Amino acid sequence: MKFSRRDFIATTAIGSASLALDLQGQTKPAASAAPSVHPPKKPVIICAANGYNYLERGYGVLSGGGDTLDAVMQVITGPEDDPNDDSVGLGGLPNEDCVVELDACCMHGPTRMAGSVAGVRDIKNVSLLAKTVMEHTGHVMLVGEGAQKFGFMMGFPKENLLTERSRKTWQLWRESMSNDDWWGPGLASPKFKFPDTAGNVSEYYDERIKRMEKLAERIGIEPEFRMAAIERVLNPPSGTIHCSAVNEKGEMSGATTTSGLAWKLAGRAGDSPIIGAGSYTDQDVGSAGATGNGEENIKVCGAHTIVENMRRGMSPQEAGMDVLKRIARNYEGHPEKLQYVDMSYYILRKDGAYAGVCMWSGPPEHLRRFAVNDGNGKRYENAVALYQGQSLGWPPMPGRKHLAPEQKK
Ligand code: ASP
Repeated sequence: MKFSRRDFIATTAIGSASLALDLQGQTKPAASAAPSVHPPKKPVIICAANGYNYLERGYGVLSGGGDTLDAVMQVITGPEDDPNDDSVGLGGLPNEDCVVELDACCMHGPTRMAGSVAGVRDIKNVSLLAKTVMEHTGHVMLVGEGAQKFGFMMGFPKENLLTERSRKTWQLWRESMSNDDWWGPGLASPKFKFPDTAGNVSEYYDERIKRMEKLAERIGIEPEFRMAAIERVLNPPSGTIHCSAVNEKGEMSGATTTSGLAWKLAGRAGDSPIIGAGSYTDQDVGSAGATGNGEENIKVCGAHTIVENMRRGMSPQEAGMDVLKRIARNYEGHPEKLQYVDMSYYILRKDGAYAGVCMWSGPPEHLRRFAVNDGNGKRYENAVALYQGQSLGWPPMPGRKHLAPEQKK
């Protein structure tokens, strides 16, 4: 996707005044985010938008009577293999030390088994590695060096996951933003302070962009990717892919894979490898998974809570909205902090009913969406949003706003 400077200047995040108003309880769901109303049917496969191109591979496995976890793997290994998806696998944006560390987990409904890996370097298909932990060990979770060693022993190839484009984007971040990082105090800390916004913050920000453009040129970032790289530095993308599936017999599985938050501290594990946070499947009820700010999701055990909500009778959409509200409640004292929280859930009930929900709708021209195929063809659908507007990248900085918005995953 190409960005011009003009696009960038013209496109802002929600104004802080309107955000404050929204967050005082006057929020409303995004107008055009109505979910599709189809009577549930099976099989169904649902995933984050970046899985769209691979959805048919997964649906094919389901309609051919294959295993639901195999179907899910067909979808999520697609972005893992794609060097241009910089939120997953090969080409994922690195941590603050310029090392790509991947997380993944999976659950297989029929056998009620689970597998997970966190902080894995040099192995691209960590979703398959999590499945291998599930199938070939008596454990559920392996991390870091041990997970990597296990992967090599099981025949996973050693691969350099850092593409030249990701390395240059990291360099742009390092040289222009290294004080704006994931070191504390974090958003949830009572010591956290917003930066000073006195003065002409917009001018300050525009100046910063101009400096970054020059730096990007010096680093050798190709002109057509320059503004996209700057956006990745200023508003590190959330991405990741989750996929859940149910077959005709009602068997279910789910899995999530990610390179985690860009520029994270080495060794940081997010929600994606945590069974119950990044992904959760209960063969009796349903399956759910998450993309977005892992720290927030871990604190509400998002995927598990959604499945439990459905067990108690909530619809997929109600179950997901309830969890988003729990995250919002964690910031009751500081509602303005919520603009830094990006979260989406992908939810599938055993009968084939499904929903996608998100914290922020995204801008009207690029509403947050997910991908699904329930036998009516693969398609994108808009997620139902708790708040209208766009989340911002971490950490806060005066005047922070978005480039022309890329479709969020
Ligand atoms: N949930 C992932 C993490 O926190 C990141 C993402 O979804 O973008 O690691």
